Amino acid sequence: MAEETIFSKIIRKEIPANIVYQDEFVTAFRDIAPQAKTHILIIPNHIIPTVNDVTEQDERILGRLFTTAAKLAQEEGIAEDGYRLIINCNKHGGQEVFHLHMHLLGGEPLGKMLAK
Ligand code: 5GP
Repeated sequence: MAEETIFSKIIRKEIPANIVYQDEFVTAFRDIAPQAKTHILIIPNHIIPTVNDVTEQDERILGRLFTTAAKLAQEEGIAEDGYRLIINCNKHGGQEVFHLHMHLLGGEPLGKMLAK
């Protein structure tokens, strides 16, 4: 069983978070330290620590991350201008929370894809 992170507590509503969407597969909430006007994290409800841990059994849930991103982008009014979806993995990817999450970033021009 994978180790819990703070995101499990957010899913169970044990700690406060600005949850914008939740269903049986995923939860989406605003990032506590937004890096763009819109910065939402979309996460599976069950713990998948990193992209390295995804399996074929997760395909339906992983698809839901994308359909949720598309729905939220519409709701946030950023779909037409565009946005960026990011999933960081491990040290080189800059992952800090080991519960797989998709960042939905937008609401302004985001600049170059990689800041080095
Ligand atoms: P990572 O670097 O792992 O891809 O991104 C982790 C993200 O989670 C960061 O953008 C960070 O601001 C966000 N985050 C970490 N702890 C919390 C929290 O307790 N609440 C919320 N809403 N976001 C968090």
